[in-house]
Amino acid sequence: MINDTIAAITTAMGAASVGIIRISGSEASEIADKVFRSKKGRSLKEKKTYTITYGHVVDEEGKVVDEALALVMWGPHSFTGENVVELQCHGGMVILRKVLELVIRAGARLAEPGEFSKRAFLNGRLDLSQAEAIMDMINAMTEEGAQAAVSNLQGGLSNIIKEYRKQILEIMAYLEADIDFPEEDFTRLTPGELGLRISQIADGIHDLLQTFRSGRILREGLKTVLIGKPNVGKSSLLNALLKVKRAIVTDIPGTTRDVIEEYYNLGGIPLVLMDTAGIRETEDIVEKIGMEKTREAVEEADLILYVLDIVHGITEDDEAFIRRYPNDKIIILANKIDLLKEEFSEEKIRERVAPYRVHFVSAKEEIGLKELEEEIKGVFFENGFNLSDKILLNNVRHKEALERAKRALESAHRGVEDNLPSDFISIDLRSSWEHLGEITGETLEEDIIDQIFSQFCLGK
Ligand code: GDP
Ligand code: ZN
Repeated sequence: MINDTIAAITTAMGAASVGIIRISGSEASEIADKVFRSKKGRSLKEKKTYTITYGHVVDEEGKVVDEALALVMWGPHSFTGENVVELQCHGGMVILRKVLELVIRAGARLAEPGEFSKRAFLNGRLDLSQAEAIMDMINAMTEEGAQAAVSNLQGGLSNIIKEYRKQILEIMAYLEADIDFPEEDFTRLTPGELGLRISQIADGIHDLLQTFRSGRILREGLKTVLIGKPNVGKSSLLNALLKVKRAIVTDIPGTTRDVIEEYYNLGGIPLVLMDTAGIRETEDIVEKIGMEKTREAVEEADLILYVLDIVHGITEDDEAFIRRYPNDKIIILANKIDLLKEEFSEEKIRERVAPYRVHFVSAKEEIGLKELEEEIKGVFFENGFNLSDKILLNNVRHKEALERAKRALESAHRGVEDNLPSDFISIDLRSSWEHLGEITGETLEEDIIDQIFSQFCLGK
């Protein structure tokens, strides 16, 4: 039943200067009229869409609860596609809750998490990937992440998916004709043309899948661990990178107590920095990499920043540790170069740990940190960091659906090569078309759709 009228507080909880109660559904204006009095006492129903009316929220006895603005947006041209009234109140959770309570008593039902977006989806105002982009935008850690979400919200991904689905349908139409009228004379696709068309779509999907790593990092952050022997300067580096003295730095090993996790905006890439040293500095973590917590963090990390003290050089322990991990996952930070008085050969050190990357830094003097940032960007966003022209896949659900679609296309392609009858190929194409439709929500089961929206937050 989607005809009932729902309401919720749609602004962030906590101290804000304005709070908004959104009411959506066929009874939105009737319900709003019961709790909102405009100055002239006229019904909101008479207002043109997208107009704002000044007035007061009043309770059943007519007592003024708050001063408010009422914004009306009549369906179908509203966010949900239904009649919507938004009451902009003076904020303060107590007042907002009170207003919401009045709205509920006037006949609205409290919206479930994600229910406004779900209605927008059901009413065709947004497709599923666009609705999901709203969530991403809210949760984005950096401006660049939000920008990527905006391009998905504007239909970047959906448009590509729609185009592929259209192309698949076209190929299917050729095949259907072949199945239905095998004797007739009409333009057929040669097996070569058929194979080419299918592989072009598969290649496009492949390219899209390649953007997932960057997209996920932008969405969830680049999981980075700082690791190295005690006292090499891990906490100092963490602080230098964060430019906030949060971890305690001392000369005595073993003073950083807890696992320290910090968010750090590296030119648009959200870095989730973990100082594993915080786990237990009294033990030599490099030797005791068997320690579960540390190992977990290291295994899960996208990037390992392996710190060593250049005054002591690279030990065998260091090398043994480093060589356990692939070189695209690890950057060696040779720290404390400010202490090196005499000349030293960077080249020699580089050669020794090749093909691993080494950066010569000083946490104390803040040397080499800018270059480190550039290096990290280079490793994880090879093609630079221009988001405006690029769709970045950032959602596991989308990625998995694309993988299934690609597999089905590959199977169709093999079918063409093996000269299988058209209806076999058609089945694979159809399956691919359906998997693509899961992304925009066109071919998803209702309960799965419900589940996706239930992960949204309240009021969205
Ligand atoms: P951790 O055990 O690896 O976390 O090491 P800390 O960050 O606690 O640093 C250990 C000691 O090394 C402290 O006395 C720091 O001040 C010092 N230290 C860290 N980085 C540098 C650096 O780049 N240059 C110098 N001269 N000292 C540093
Ligand atoms: Zn430390």
